[in-house]
Amino acid sequence: MLGLMQDQPLLISSLIEFAAQHHGNAEIVSRRVEGDLHRTTYREAAARARQVANALDGLDLAFSDRVATLAWNGYRHFELYFGVSGSGRVLHTLNPRLAPDQVVWIVNHAEDRVLCFDMTFLPLIKAIWQKCPTVKHWVALCDATALPADTGVEGLVSYEAWIAPHSTAYAWPQFDEKSAASLCYTSGTTGNPKGALYSHRSTVLHAYGGALPDSLGLSARDSILPVVPMFHVNAWGLPYGAAMTGAKLVFPGAALDGKSVYELIEAEGVTMAAGVPTVWLGLLNHMAPAGLRFSTLNRTVIGGSACPPAMISAFKDQYGVTVLHAWGMTEMSPLGTVCTLKLPQQALPPEQQMAVLVKQGRAVYGVEMKIVDPDGHELPWDGQASGDLYVKGPWIISGYFKGEGGNPLVDGWFPTGDVATIDADGFMQITDRSKDVIKSGGEWISSIDIENIAMAHPAVAMAACIGVRHPKWDERPLLVVVRKPGAEVTREALLAFYDGKVAKWQVPDDVAFVDAIPLGATGKMQKMKLREQFKDHRLPTA
Ligand code: ADP
Repeated sequence: MLGLMQDQPLLISSLIEFAAQHHGNAEIVSRRVEGDLHRTTYREAAARARQVANALDGLDLAFSDRVATLAWNGYRHFELYFGVSGSGRVLHTLNPRLAPDQVVWIVNHAEDRVLCFDMTFLPLIKAIWQKCPTVKHWVALCDATALPADTGVEGLVSYEAWIAPHSTAYAWPQFDEKSAASLCYTSGTTGNPKGALYSHRSTVLHAYGGALPDSLGLSARDSILPVVPMFHVNAWGLPYGAAMTGAKLVFPGAALDGKSVYELIEAEGVTMAAGVPTVWLGLLNHMAPAGLRFSTLNRTVIGGSACPPAMISAFKDQYGVTVLHAWGMTEMSPLGTVCTLKLPQQALPPEQQMAVLVKQGRAVYGVEMKIVDPDGHELPWDGQASGDLYVKGPWIISGYFKGEGGNPLVDGWFPTGDVATIDADGFMQITDRSKDVIKSGGEWISSIDIENIAMAHPAVAMAACIGVRHPKWDERPLLVVVRKPGAEVTREALLAFYDGKVAKWQVPDDVAFVDAIPLGATGKMQKMKLREQFKDHRLPTA
């Protein structure tokens, strides 16, 4: 016997219509690449998303055709999120931080038909448009007057001129909720990038999961600042979650430096912000010397790479802001776990709470996890045993776009490539990415542990730990450090800083001081590049 409930597909268009109807006056504020601050509302954004849908219907596009964006976080990008997916096309968010050749490769692989871009990327578009034969329509996200007379890109139109003639009324098509909605390629540190193809169903379920109180806890009382780019796994789903809950949205555009982010948080009463650790490093480095304070910010979601405990303490102790340490991946839409305390833990002393809060956290309902040994046997949830982390759930990929890389699943589970422990309360902690683990004489050293300790040293701005060849131990840890401007610290002092914090054999063998650590297209340290750079490094112990 089936239940007698209405069978209504979970479609992305319903999110923006809900926001327009129930939170029509809630604001969407964007720092534009033009430099000014733009203000709109969900009501207006929904009307313009319908114009986008009508404009797309006017082009010769099929259901599921890809419409690409190369854009910062802003209201036009937000309108495309709903206009493109809602009308049955696939929103393909391109990462502008990739090398031009990679962008070309991805556009051709995805067979994008339309490409909408911010004017800051015009030079990039000029360089690549002739190499992208599938793209038939180029749209610059600006007013008609902002478009130079001769852009050199054939048929280029401005977004405003393109949507203006179209009606703000539109009957969103109803279709199978399992239809493709958006596409995001992984940055592809090894091999070619691969596409994660999200569906309407997975996106709406992910938005529900992300909005839960023990996840990101989104509500109509929030003012949300996604610093994480809309081209990086849909800004962790925040545009959808904000529309679902009616939260105010604040978009930073291209200004991601500490000063600009701080000013926006203060000016727009931001209560919740989200981004990778490197962004918050910039923010804290801007605030500390000037003695600045937050007036409204109460929590910040930090993920994408391990958040150093020193950063969690700094936010909490100096600014009264709770860090929600979160873990996920492109292949997981991206939310997997978020770290929030349970009832009994709230009574613990601060140090014991901190020991929990530095972990990557508990699974959001909708994500199943397990850790396994190299033979695939499940390991206990005791907070000690560490193994390969596997996940499954309705917002985790079943395969990559166009079947690239074959079937990624093992008995229905997706291997994350991360190594983790899970404790008896279900708190997961990443010890490493499997390819970053340092294998010293048959024992594993967690590069994240070593980095976290270095990051707590007052003279250290950024630290990466990599394995370097060693004749006796196979690999030994080398600590690569960027010092804070004007700060002094010696190799010996840094190594002595590890005394009593880790076992002696886990202390790095050497320290290399550098001006900068290479960051990838999603703001993560590129340890592959570092390993290449230091492959001939002679350790003093070798
Ligand atoms: P990429 O394209 O670089 O793979 P993703 O955003 O998909 O980009 O990266 C996912 C990976 O990032 C995870 O598998 C994990 O290794 C790392 N990661 C994400 N969040 C965290 C976190 N909170 N702590 C440690 N590692 C993290």
